[in-house]
Amino acid sequence: MSLNVTLKIFRSRPHQEQRYDTFNVTVPDAANVLDAIEQAWAHHDRELMFRHACHHASCGTCAVRINGREKLPCIAPVREYAGSEIKIEPLRNFPILGDLVVDVAGFFQKQQASGFIITRPTENELDGKPITYTDGLDPESVPSVPFNRFENCVECGICLSACPTMAADYKFFGPAGLAAIHDQYRKTSDTTERKKLLELADDEQGVWRCHSAWECTEACPQNVQPAEKIMALRKEITTQRFKTFFRR
Ligand code: SF4
Repeated sequence: MSLNVTLKIFRSRPHQEQRYDTFNVTVPDAANVLDAIEQAWAHHDRELMFRHACHHASCGTCAVRINGREKLPCIAPVREYAGSEIKIEPLRNFPILGDLVVDVAGFFQKQQASGFIITRPTENELDGKPITYTDGLDPESVPSVPFNRFENCVECGICLSACPTMAADYKFFGPAGLAAIHDQYRKTSDTTERKKLLELADDEQGVWRCHSAWECTEACPQNVQPAEKIMALRKEITTQRFKTFFRR
């Protein structure tokens, strides 16, 4: 069975007026919105700009707004929108590069500042040495090399798009970055490192800028719960201040 879908897609190019284009596409009943976008690109407009990679919610690359809500279109079933036009727009609170593609460089810089390791050690190394398969080594027998991931965050940027504080102040560290600080804080027992992380969270663009709207937790497709982690950081900062005060 197939579905006829009408997509209304935001279009933007530098020095051109922004607009919405309408595309009528036919997709299988089990298709997701990303499949419909790909149909629009393949059959109607090869200049349509959008990002995608894994198609199963593990890369976060394709994040957009669907009918005003931040979503990963790769796991958003088209049939949930059956009977109505599907409006697709880029994430908010990011510079738009073209159509549905936003500039995520600033987001990753903040993630990196929070201790979240963006560049992972290559998975082709073992004990710091390159793995070669020319000596008869069975690739399946190679132990997996640990790499750093921040919880189950897929760095999609959805929480930044949904965040009302980000809309007012792009300098705000943002939900994902603060959640990353919380994660690093929880993982390390190094006193100096913990102090540094709390100072970062306590910065004027840190946890106290959050308006507690909880939109980030509501929108996050991976259940990272950034809002809960921001609140936990606030509690920890306050606890540490009390301890310092009473030690005097
Ligand atoms: S915290 Fe959730 S919404 Fe924010 S970037 Fe990570 S996965 Fe996406």
